[in-house]
Amino acid sequence: MPSIKGIPVAPGLALGKVHIIRAKPGTVAQWSIPEDAVDAEVARLGAALDAARELLNRQREIVLRSGGEQEAGIFAVHLAILDDPSAVSQVEKRLREDRVNAEWAVQALVDSLYQQFKGLEGDSVRRYAEDLSEPWVMVRDLLGTRDAEEVSASEEKVVLAAADLTPQVVTFIERNRILAVLTETGGRFSHGAVLARSFGFPTVVALPNLMARLEQDMEVLVDGDRALVTLRPDRDAVDEFIEGQRQKIARQGVLATVSGMPSVTPDGHPLGVHVNLESVRDIESFDVKICDGVGLLRTEFLYMERTQFPTEEDQYRLYRRVVDAMDGRPVVLRVLDIGGDKQLPYLQMPKENNPALGWRGIRVMVEWQDLLRVQLRAALRATAHGEVRILLPMISSVEQIKRVAEIMNRVREQLVSQGYEISQRVMLGVMIEVPSTVWVLPEILQLVDFVSVGTNDLVQYLLAVDRDNSRVSELYDPFHPAVVRVLSRIGSVCAEAGVPSSVCGELASDQAAALSLLGMGFTSISAAPNFLPEIRYAVRTTPIAQARQLAQDLVEAKTSKGVRQRLAQERRRLYQAVKGGNTPTEGAS
Ligand code: PEP
Ligand code: MG
Repeated sequence: MPSIKGIPVAPGLALGKVHIIRAKPGTVAQWSIPEDAVDAEVARLGAALDAARELLNRQREIVLRSGGEQEAGIFAVHLAILDDPSAVSQVEKRLREDRVNAEWAVQALVDSLYQQFKGLEGDSVRRYAEDLSEPWVMVRDLLGTRDAEEVSASEEKVVLAAADLTPQVVTFIERNRILAVLTETGGRFSHGAVLARSFGFPTVVALPNLMARLEQDMEVLVDGDRALVTLRPDRDAVDEFIEGQRQKIARQGVLATVSGMPSVTPDGHPLGVHVNLESVRDIESFDVKICDGVGLLRTEFLYMERTQFPTEEDQYRLYRRVVDAMDGRPVVLRVLDIGGDKQLPYLQMPKENNPALGWRGIRVMVEWQDLLRVQLRAALRATAHGEVRILLPMISSVEQIKRVAEIMNRVREQLVSQGYEISQRVMLGVMIEVPSTVWVLPEILQLVDFVSVGTNDLVQYLLAVDRDNSRVSELYDPFHPAVVRVLSRIGSVCAEAGVPSSVCGELASDQAAALSLLGMGFTSISAAPNFLPEIRYAVRTTPIAQARQLAQDLVEAKTSKGVRQRLAQERRRLYQAVKGGNTPTEGAS
């Protein structure tokens, strides 16, 4: 019963069959096929070949109908290539002998075709090699897309496994069909990881040699808390899993007793507990009673899920849906934050050597002002239906804020002159993600109504560690003493200025860390829905003096280990409080 240890991304337990997916379009993953599944894999290859033939015939007919008899000839050639028995048997032989997946066996054929012609001179020879491999590339790609369709069509829930944790992997199939996600590489704080945590399935990354060790449909047990994956678990391991699930359900029952109660310490100090939303559909996945509002609506996923830019009307409708669902609670809507690994499928952005330090977030939006104006129009129109606050990502200077505030004013005037009803006062806030903003915070606070700390990026920029790069993920440390001290400074500067401050990065989803933020002076936190019950319970059981002491202990800790140990101590205390089931209603309003 071998097991593999990785890096934890999202907690929880899962037991089920693995479905291996290609990590990125255009790349081919390899996995091994169990002996008794080889025939099924050959059949899968056969089905993809049939689909490719059908597609080529259809394309041929379309060209013929438009009178292109000569051009249609290429499809006949491609069909003949797919019918070449030696090529088909070469792929089948590799699949049977090496017991590899069909797309990998097809890729090997494509590579060998290129290899044969590599040494030869001349464009026509190279073109011939391309012609020969083109229909096979089509078969390979069909295997990939049919893969998603097949797994979607089946009723079974699966554990997804892939080479890298990208947003595409996490959204490969509907989220209620995903038991867990496992990847061979990937950082804890990449955007794929953020999504996985918000969707609430256990996720483990950086699992050494994962793809080579897994087989399609292999049964695995995933422990997201310990970042442990057990291959083909035995009876005892399965029994332990069932007991773990039972305890989790019991714990959720106790936590639910405070859902809907104010998030206030027993001595009356509030900490707003807000929710991070990745998509408008998220609002259907939880009971709004668990949150005090939306602390971060990451609008980029709304753009990423489409095939073209959403119009003003599309956006207005979606934002309004969130506002209506929140039933009077505020909604912090973040301006589109694309760039880096958050790419839109319909927008070709320039390739950059250092995308994290490049053209992303507000830097894109102030240059492509049409995009910004359309989004601001939709957001401001939604203010007629509830409290919408606007949040600007990747701000690094006071000048940028002034520039966007001017644009926002002009958009507002235009809307009013066009007869739209919009709120008299719309709060404008900025993300504190770039370290420079911490040092000009007093000046920033004079221009904005609130700030929200994006620790995922702040840690990356403060420590100079790429959040998406698993080679340096050991160095990506949200509990580095420098991070703790910077957070404490932000909390106290904002408290002194009387400006509301929140933390919406992943750090805030830890209940002990959330308490320390309360102690530092932050007025709210925002995290994925599944973390909120623990946090609300923690706030309602902890007097403010205890939260302040925790904050002070963390600030005084000299090492990351010291910070982590102190947080672990606090977590144990909270765990015991919940285990005891002492409903913390006394004293809290
Ligand atoms: C952050 O950087 O912490 C944040 C909340 O934004 P994102 O993770 O979307 O970059
Ligand atoms: Mg960010």
